[in-house]
Amino acid sequence: MENFKLSWQNLFGHAETVEHLRKNIADGKFPHAVIFSGAEGIGKRLAAEICAAALLCDNPIDGAPCGTCESCKLVAAHTHPDFYVVEPEVTKSAPNIKIGQIRAMQTEAALRPINSARRVVILDGAELMNTAAANCLLKTIEEPPSQTIFILLTANRSSLLMTIRSRCMTINFDKLPATQIRDALIQRGVETAEAERLSVIANGSFGRALTLKDSGGAQIREAALDTLIKISRATLTNEDIFKQGAIVAEWSRDTFADFVTHVQKILRDITFADVMTPHNPDLAPRLSEIKIPERKIFAMIEAGVEFHRRLKSNANLRLLAEAYLFTLRKIVR
Ligand SMILES: [Zn+2]
Repeated sequence: MENFKLSWQNLFGHAETVEHLRKNIADGKFPHAVIFSGAEGIGKRLAAEICAAALLCDNPIDGAPCGTCESCKLVAAHTHPDFYVVEPEVTKSAPNIKIGQIRAMQTEAALRPINSARRVVILDGAELMNTAAANCLLKTIEEPPSQTIFILLTANRSSLLMTIRSRCMTINFDKLPATQIRDALIQRGVETAEAERLSVIANGSFGRALTLKDSGGAQIREAALDTLIKISRATLTNEDIFKQGAIVAEWSRDTFADFVTHVQKILRDITFADVMTPHNPDLAPRLSEIKIPERKIFAMIEAGVEFHRRLKSNANLRLLAEAYLFTLRKIVR
């Protein structure tokens, strides 16, 4: 039990929400369709998986999964036959959930549960359903299979169909205070100044703070942003590129992969600002300074995908980094 990853103790913050969810589960009153609404990395997914484990557990304890029964282990391993997760498919441009994925889920959900008394379906990134997929899901939520519980996770509730919203109970996962995130980071051994910085960038999400910490903190993202601003202003010199190449040469391949990922996320934030929840909400004012035509941004994103692939070969890291920056600059010129 101590080390069971789907334990409420592992969810950071949200004490009142957790209390409420546990009570619903313990009283057998968990809604048939529920929306967990809140920013990316805030803990919605972990909370949903803990709920699923508790709902499918053979011996739940006050709305918490026991952590030792067969069901709990299978949910944690994502192999429980009555536990189904739908996630956006990552495409070259914007990730989305397609109607085929919803149909495949519906076929499963219509069947009788196999191991447990019920079935739990998690739809992560529900706002990324296209209209056809959303309408298809709506039919199921209107007349849900009696044993199936749907948990929709969204960072942008307002972009879900009104008809879906009105049929689901909404549970809000509020942003956490920066001080709470800072203290938790310090507790995990992060230096005070760095914890301070990360807690601000994390924008209320502890998961995001941890991701940033693991990707070399805020500096890598800053380097990515700085590079893009220079490219957009046509001020990125050959010397800048060789200097960055020398810096990258000291990095691990994973760190350079993170750098490319940050560039990709920033480019997506610029292009999909109107339709997607931004990866970097705190950067919004600075991103508006980057003026690059959309078709060039698409070409830059494509280049990022290509360099991610090349990183897996044993190409020289420094040369690869320089080639990447030269490529981005050439696209924009
Ligand atoms: Zn259990």
